[in-house]
Amino acid sequence: MLSVESNKIWGFLMAKSINDSRQNHLLYLTDYNTHDKPWDAHRCQSDDVGQIYAGVLEFERYAQRMAECSGVLRFGWQTAPDTGESRLRLREAHFCRVRHCPVCQWRRTLMWQARFYQAMPRLAAEHPKARWIFLTLTVKNCQISELRDTLKHMNASWQRLKDRKEFKPVSGWIRSTEVTRGKDGTAHPHFHALLMVPPSWFTRHYIKQARWVELWRECLRADYAPNVDVRAVKAKKNQDEADALRAAVAETLKYSTKPADMTSDSAWFLELTRQTHKMRFLASGGTLKDVLKLGDETNEDLILADGAPAAVDEPHLLGFNWHDSERRYKRAPNADKTL
Ligand SMILES: [Zn+2]
Repeated sequence: MLSVESNKIWGFLMAKSINDSRQNHLLYLTDYNTHDKPWDAHRCQSDDVGQIYAGVLEFERYAQRMAECSGVLRFGWQTAPDTGESRLRLREAHFCRVRHCPVCQWRRTLMWQARFYQAMPRLAAEHPKARWIFLTLTVKNCQISELRDTLKHMNASWQRLKDRKEFKPVSGWIRSTEVTRGKDGTAHPHFHALLMVPPSWFTRHYIKQARWVELWRECLRADYAPNVDVRAVKAKKNQDEADALRAAVAETLKYSTKPADMTSDSAWFLELTRQTHKMRFLASGGTLKDVLKLGDETNEDLILADGAPAAVDEPHLLGFNWHDSERRYKRAPNADKTL
């Protein structure tokens, strides 16, 4: 058992380590949040994608907006109540919100994921027996110049699938569109969907994988068997059901095109931008209709994307600037601010 005296010493050491971890004079952002390095990686990608837009007159405006995206970040210290660990939380930034900006695309996926996670306790209370299915529906690759027509056709096919009697037991769904680049320069559009189903889905309403292929082929009115992947969302070892569902949500609500595909072939990416202009890549229905609050996106939403707004410990915000020559965020005391 610890004596009163050693408890005091322990408390003193804890407070000291918190103060030590709150040094405000380190050089790089990654020196502060060592376990959280995506800022540099995504901002680099935004520079690379912005360069592609900068070379084309019709997209010059996107390049200008992206150059100004998340140039200054201001963070506040926050202490986790459970672990006592201090870390920086983003409090201020300006995002360009260009659709294919890798920083903004990343913040958007975090925002959608957070909205779903926040709804999970309510969903579990209202639908205690719900089970979940992760479904991937594909079509054969198309030319990038045919992407828009192909996506329209896929959306219409999804409508037909929803109207099938096999889909009736599904009480709610979210669906995202992803487009990857084939090695031969074609486009590979596909849907990821997360379906909320009743327990009877696994008994009397069970649909075998082969039947899914048939169903999707009929809805597509295709003369070939499309690839379909269907999996029950199940907890792995050391996971509970909520963890398994969170992983499936993250898989569904991820980037629509991976930045590596954007930068590996600039002609392909520019045509992707034209082809997907104003097309919606997320949809939801049934009991999940309002969970993602689609169409609701402010600069503030993208700042608070990785968690609910929580109070910071101190009103003093630490500034960081993007240095494109070093491709890293650097500490910038002249960008500090006190709220
Ligand atoms: Zn941006």
